[in-house]
Amino acid sequence: MTSKRTRERLVSRLREQGIDDEAVLQVMRDTPRHIFIDEALSHRAYEDTALPIGYNQTISQPYIVARMTEVLLQDGPVSRVLEVGTGSGFQTAILAQLVDQVFSVERIRPLQEKARQRLQVLKLRNAQLLHTDGGMGWPSKAPFDGILVAAAPDEVPPELLQQLAIGGRLVIPVGGGSQELRLVRRLDEETFDTQVLEACKFVPLLSGTVR
Ligand code: SAH
Repeated sequence: MTSKRTRERLVSRLREQGIDDEAVLQVMRDTPRHIFIDEALSHRAYEDTALPIGYNQTISQPYIVARMTEVLLQDGPVSRVLEVGTGSGFQTAILAQLVDQVFSVERIRPLQEKARQRLQVLKLRNAQLLHTDGGMGWPSKAPFDGILVAAAPDEVPPELLQQLAIGGRLVIPVGGGSQELRLVRRLDEETFDTQVLEACKFVPLLSGTVR
């Protein structure tokens, strides 16, 4: 299940789908995705598919985790990253191995607590977690060089744009029914450049928190 061959097969699949950042491929290979999934499903951990993690949420598909990470990093090293929607913590773990500091917010407390334990097991100490409505970002830790959003709003929340550093990059799924993955770059104080990358499918960005 967790054999080297199984993980190599996943990495080959990611390559076939166009992921070519070697650092990203390496952390995708080396990070144990099975510990981010309930035991009953862990035999499917290295399939390229989203899986349920409870509370109507899913751990994202490995392809989209790799793709968003690659897009976030493709202009060079990134120091401080905000992640909205910690979920299982898998994407958090990937980011923590590639950037200096990760600030990750989650609105469902029990998911956040499990994610925290997993990150501790992996000794990833450069990720800080907060239980909050992430549509508002994490103002006290802003500005961020990168923001990665793992749940889809109907429109890009202005609070997130404001928390982006000049030169910073926001990767975010947008839309209700059909969604598109967008890259928004902040060029200066008031200029933002938006690129549509591809179609995608995320759970919705919801407001409020769950204890
Ligand atoms: N990358 C994560 C994805 C989890 S799914 C993983 O692979 O595990 C998206 C997560 O976003 C869910 O856990 C959901 O609860 C969370 N979420 C949705 N709306 C949110 C909001 N406004 N603030 C914070 N988290 C939110």
